[in-house]
Amino acid sequence: MHARDVVTFFGVVATSGRLRWSDTEVQSLARLRVPSDVLGPRAWLLQADATLAHARWFLASLVDTAPFEQDETLRLPHLAAQVRDAILEVDRHMPKDELLEVVEALSNIVWQEIEERRIRRRARMTQPTKDELWFASEPEPRCYLCGYKFTPAARDYFLGRSRVLPTVSLLVDFTRPRLKVRHLQIEIDHVQPVVDGGSNEIANLRLACGLCNIIKSRFGSIYDTYSWPVRHLRHPDLGWVTIPQPLWLLRVLSLRARCEYRDGCAATVETHEMFAAPWSVSGSLNPVNIKVCCSDHDPWASKRLIRPSLLA
Ligand SMILES: [Zn+2]
Ligand SMILES: [Zn+2]
Repeated sequence: MHARDVVTFFGVVATSGRLRWSDTEVQSLARLRVPSDVLGPRAWLLQADATLAHARWFLASLVDTAPFEQDETLRLPHLAAQVRDAILEVDRHMPKDELLEVVEALSNIVWQEIEERRIRRRARMTQPTKDELWFASEPEPRCYLCGYKFTPAARDYFLGRSRVLPTVSLLVDFTRPRLKVRHLQIEIDHVQPVVDGGSNEIANLRLACGLCNIIKSRFGSIYDTYSWPVRHLRHPDLGWVTIPQPLWLLRVLSLRARCEYRDGCAATVETHEMFAAPWSVSGSLNPVNIKVCCSDHDPWASKRLIRPSLLA
């Protein structure tokens, strides 16, 4: 660790504490570069997701996509006209060829996202599609994001062999609690952006557990959710612990998709369920401190499962 960089950085951050609502203090924070030690082993994820969040906010500042998602009679030219007006609002004197170029590029990007959401909304998964996906994932179908192994009850319900829903277990993982029936169910997720025609084709579909699918929904960046943890839990063995934002865990679990045990481990989401544990045991689970592990290398193996009532 470069101690001096870290101390200098936190010197500025600390003095800004009282005045974080003053614009001069915020300006000085804005000029500060975050040392790589502060970003930690997940620097790549933190920086990539910040880039995504900034890009999305910029595009959304040009045009609100809600009307386009809801009203399918609206087409790309309507969108392009709005983007053009919004850009002219910012830069009235932009040369015509540059304006055309930027309007076309940005409209196409926004349009892809709108199309993708429209297709997702229209998608109705038929039983043959479900069967095909299930059998393609044999012998041991798991959630492709977290590695959770589906229960026989969830399988039978998914395959239409039974109308009995899976039941929630008596103990749950406090970091990713499956508290509702839907969390145990099998759902179908689109892996790749579904804009290039191949939208609902099998190659683009994966089985996901309901918990991951709900958390993933339309989020793409850790900054799409709050940067604060959810709340505190009084854990029977660990004492007071912070409950992290579900999206932080899903993002790290699904991107690493393998056990990060320091001496090496072959477990991946294809063969094992992956769990979130802290790198630094005294720290809370946040995007800097989440370690992915299999059940064999889980430092919280004996502590992870708790009664759901403790989370209430
Ligand atoms: Zn999952
Ligand atoms: Zn392992």
